[in-house]
Amino acid sequence: MFTLDRHPSGRHFLQIPGPTNVPDRVLRAIDRPTIDHRGPEFGDLGRAVLSDIKQVFQTEAPVVIYPSSGTGAWEAALVNTLSPGDRVLMVETGHFSGLWCRLAGRLGLEVELIEGDWRHGADPARVRASLEADAARRIRAVCVVHNETATGVVSDIAAMRAALDAAGHPALLMVDAISSLGAIDYRHDEWGVDVTVAGSQKGLMLPPGLSFNAIGPRALAAADTARLPRSYWDWREMLGPNRNGYFPYTPATNLLYGLHEALSMLREEGLPSVFARHRRHAAATRAAVAAWGLELVCLAPQGHSPALTAVLMPGRQGADALRRTILERYDMSLGQGLGRLADQAFRIGHLGHFNDLTLCGTLAGVEMGLAAAGVPHQPGGVQAAMARLASEPAPAAFY
Ligand SMILES: *Cc1c(COP(=O)(O)O)cnc(C)c1O
Repeated sequence: MFTLDRHPSGRHFLQIPGPTNVPDRVLRAIDRPTIDHRGPEFGDLGRAVLSDIKQVFQTEAPVVIYPSSGTGAWEAALVNTLSPGDRVLMVETGHFSGLWCRLAGRLGLEVELIEGDWRHGADPARVRASLEADAARRIRAVCVVHNETATGVVSDIAAMRAALDAAGHPALLMVDAISSLGAIDYRHDEWGVDVTVAGSQKGLMLPPGLSFNAIGPRALAAADTARLPRSYWDWREMLGPNRNGYFPYTPATNLLYGLHEALSMLREEGLPSVFARHRRHAAATRAAVAAWGLELVCLAPQGHSPALTAVLMPGRQGADALRRTILERYDMSLGQGLGRLADQAFRIGHLGHFNDLTLCGTLAGVEMGLAAAGVPHQPGGVQAAMARLASEPAPAAFY
């Protein structure tokens, strides 16, 4: 039987790279009566969140909000813009790019995959070469994951845009920003992205249950001729009622209360400060990993994720036993190794609602866990992280 009968004292440390910890302010905002989603009060809420969410995508384009996990928004991006048999160019960065790829194949799209080693980001030169080889212009979309949550590697989306432009190729650029939005600088308009896919439960500090498509003008135009079947995900159904703050079906009202509050928090801190905070905590985490003598999954010098750090186990085994020890002894959840990194790596989430002391507590849990589980390592990771934090003090505006 399913019971939540464990009540350890103190807060659980939820340091997986999503879902992330939900701030008390957001929890309180969600804890309100559900209202008539066709009534006048709802229109105010809907208009506010549909307008404010654009700032996080750094876009003027419409953003639709689905009551779904991020996977739904992946599907929405494809079914609204493409037709059966269309070719999509996808870049293998890790487990999540692989899932998006599988989804595209199941929808009847023809996937051309640029293979990767799960330790680097998407290579713009290879994307350009594939597009230049496509003389018949059969590729209709290029799909890239911005922050590959399985590996902790970020891909350069501006360079992806430049690769499409250099090849003079008309394919749409679609980006999964599910674990970067609200944590890592992301610019839908400036980078010329046609569809950005995102979710609520990572950088936006909300519970799971909302997903997003930011829709550029070329993607909107493609929706007029796309022939993949779509109903629930149809942008056109959404955009009409959205103009007045309403939805074509029952929205996740209480999560929208939470979104309104989370967007206020991001605005109060300021997006540049939010991004700097994540970079700083990621750098301190890497200092700890180096001091432990452990290896990062990420080998790309410019690709280190500000949102999470994936760490390889010595001997490439035992990550699950380590995570189990840390959960049982210290009540902290770390991300598991996914796909081909199963049991080989663990992932430390340092995104969302997070500060210096959350980081120190998280790293202390890892360091004590390494010792308790008998994993070969050097002590001193927490010390190294504290020194890194002290070398670049957080601006007072963070707090
Ligand atoms: C979490 C995540 C997903 C999957 O989102 P769900 O909400 O679990 O469907 C997809 N892509 C990336 C990069 C993610 O981090």
